[in-house]
Amino acid sequence: MAQVTLSQISKVYSNGFTAVHPASFDIPDGEFVVLVGPSGCGKSTMLRMIAGLEDISSGGLNIGTRQVNDLDPADRDIAMVFQNYALYPHMNVRNNIGYGLKNRKIAKAEIDRKIREASAMLNLDDYLDRKPSQLSGGQRQRVAMGRAIVRDPALFLFDEPLSNLDAKLRTQMRIEIKALQRRLGVTAVYVTHDQVEAMTMADRIIVMNEGRIEQIGTPTEVYNRPETTFVASFMGAPPMNLMVGVARDGQLRVGDEPIAAHDLPTSGKVTIGIRPEDIVPDENGDITIDVTLVEELGAHRLLHGTLAGQDISIHVDKDNIISVGSLRVSLKPNAVSLFDAITGGRLT
Ligand code: ATP
Repeated sequence: MAQVTLSQISKVYSNGFTAVHPASFDIPDGEFVVLVGPSGCGKSTMLRMIAGLEDISSGGLNIGTRQVNDLDPADRDIAMVFQNYALYPHMNVRNNIGYGLKNRKIAKAEIDRKIREASAMLNLDDYLDRKPSQLSGGQRQRVAMGRAIVRDPALFLFDEPLSNLDAKLRTQMRIEIKALQRRLGVTAVYVTHDQVEAMTMADRIIVMNEGRIEQIGTPTEVYNRPETTFVASFMGAPPMNLMVGVARDGQLRVGDEPIAAHDLPTSGKVTIGIRPEDIVPDENGDITIDVTLVEELGAHRLLHGTLAGQDISIHVDKDNIISVGSLRVSLKPNAVSLFDAITGGRLT
């Protein structure tokens, strides 16, 4: 187990492209941190610098009490689980799991004990003699996890480990990985572009965009108080509604529609953010929405339409029977996030 500290870490590739601008954060011992962001935002580069697979251009990286900038991956006391599992096709499951230990000159009996322990933990007991080609995607993923576990690392690193699995298996494996990490108490850094994985697995989420950290926080903090319009639109499906609005004389409006808001911190043009589930059908509501499409989701309905000509989505539960046309709504308390219209930074 270990605390991980990044101090002004950056990555400039040899072609001069800055993939990670100087970034600092601490990961306390035993925490599960998820790096999330769109393709190309720099999250894999960040993880690969922690792993030692990519040189660090500037800044300091500590794992535990050691500065590891110049240490080889093998000397960093980490284990990495990749998207493609990186299993040896000619070896059976037992040997794939134990491979890293053989190179460490550990006694055979001890290796066998660790393999048995890991395979029991991962429900792989019945598959130890099979080759990777004779396993399902989920089982291969577990073998890759087993190989990481037997090494007893200070730090687990995951690079999109579930992206080759179908949706149902992904849901199951994310619960398994999180439960395993809790049980082992090991510090973990997990990279994904999937905001649902980030929300469900993380103790803390780090949202990245274009090589910079946009926000660090618990899933609830990041969801409820996005610091930027980028985070607001990246986290949540459907995302937060973002609309051009105007604050004037203590009143916030989108077009002519009044949007309730307390203590406006500014006047003039603003970006108004409202989560789809914070808008409630209400025949006495002050706001009128033109609903153009109703999507059935079983337990919920998703309404698409416009508010004063701007696109808006509303998430209602299945008891709300709503048809296209004019709809009166009100907002839940504290539903409104306000962002600077130019910088996209949070105002309240
Ligand atoms: P994805 O989810 O698609 O893997 P990512 O967020 O993990 O994306 P990175 O792989 O870290 O992104 O890449 C970040 C940026 O750095 C991208 O614009 C990428 O094109 C660039 N990049 C990656 N490797 C190199 C390299 N060796 N030389 C130059 N640029 C690179």
